[in-house]
Amino acid sequence: MTDKLAFIRADMDGLRESNLLITLRTMGSPADAWMVVDGVRVLNFCTNNYLGLANHPAMKEAAAAAVDRWGVGPAAVRSIAGTQALHVELERRLAAFKGVEDALYVQSGFVANQAAIAPLVGKEDVIFSDRLNHASIIDGARLSSAKIIVYEHCDPADLEAKIQEHLPNYRRGLVITDGVFSMDGDIAPLDKLMAVADRYGVLTMVDDAHGEGVLGRGGRGIVDHFGLHGAFDVEVGTLSKAFGVVGGVIAGKRAIIDYIRQKARPFLFSSAVTPADTAACLAAVDLLEGSEALVAKLWENAAYFRGEMQKLGFDTGKSQTPIVPVMLGDAGLAKQFSRSLFEAGVFAMSIGFPTVPRGLARIRVMNTAAHSRADLDQGLAAFAQVGRQLGVI
Ligand SMILES: *Cc1c(COP(=O)(O)O)cnc(C)c1O
Repeated sequence: MTDKLAFIRADMDGLRESNLLITLRTMGSPADAWMVVDGVRVLNFCTNNYLGLANHPAMKEAAAAAVDRWGVGPAAVRSIAGTQALHVELERRLAAFKGVEDALYVQSGFVANQAAIAPLVGKEDVIFSDRLNHASIIDGARLSSAKIIVYEHCDPADLEAKIQEHLPNYRRGLVITDGVFSMDGDIAPLDKLMAVADRYGVLTMVDDAHGEGVLGRGGRGIVDHFGLHGAFDVEVGTLSKAFGVVGGVIAGKRAIIDYIRQKARPFLFSSAVTPADTAACLAAVDLLEGSEALVAKLWENAAYFRGEMQKLGFDTGKSQTPIVPVMLGDAGLAKQFSRSLFEAGVFAMSIGFPTVPRGLARIRVMNTAAHSRADLDQGLAAFAQVGRQLGVI
């Protein structure tokens, strides 16, 4: 008998030997500043819970009330019987919040890219994609069958050169970029990218997963940050990060969003988001529209943490956002650093190849509004102790 599963064993052995095997930690508490991780209570710098909404009382109340009123699931896709009044209300509120004509709420940010790209471009078309774009953009682009041309990271001049070289060979072009790049915390130069795209009549799309609830006035996102309302074609986002719930949003011009409702396969063939999640997202919009305090606290915490880390002598890379990479270089060192931090009561993940290039391994710190100043000081003390112990500072 041939061993049909031998390829799995070989691949798994390879992953184990090159230190790339993923081990799942089990959370024993809600996402918050402090969490129980594998049975140990630690200070958390790993979740994307930027505003501390994942365990916010108003959010939980809204979700519980929606379960009572609407049940636990819609039991249908949006285009048959799954569009509940809650979905319509959330889409109206998200569009108003973001200052766009229309918004579509889908199952996740990952799904949003699968939904938004394929209706706009097909095999006669070309996508211009930033070298460091997120996996969900890459997969969404592949699903569309369009030709994918990669331009250098955050480089409008290279984008222009690539458009000049390739656009004449295709029917239509679409430029897609992450808004905030999640491994470095840098921001795409959206205004400059858009100016280039406009010069050649190329459609524009940004995936603002890490900017939603973070960038712009009161967390209105990257298009607001650059003041490009109504000019930018499509803004994809997630409600699974700063919004603290789960879901994705596709926001922009009404003609485009309406068209995506007709064409997007995840919208037509996968069931709608649950009432609890939808209602919690509505509560998040209420909180964000009601006060900018959480967004302000998030940026204040991030600036404090980054500044103190730099004073300690750490290299915090190119970060312009609450994502603060602590650059260490060697992947083994980054792993050891993360382990020692955990022993000191701090949960911060090391990130190495292939998520980031070889030789650029790091610890990634996700700042949030949920952290108190005392939490940050405790985290900084742990970084200082481990940094000295390992000869980094
Ligand atoms: C996290 C992320 C996603 C996925 O969002 P989910 O709602 O978790 O599916 C998509 N795009 C980018 C750029 C992200 O950072």
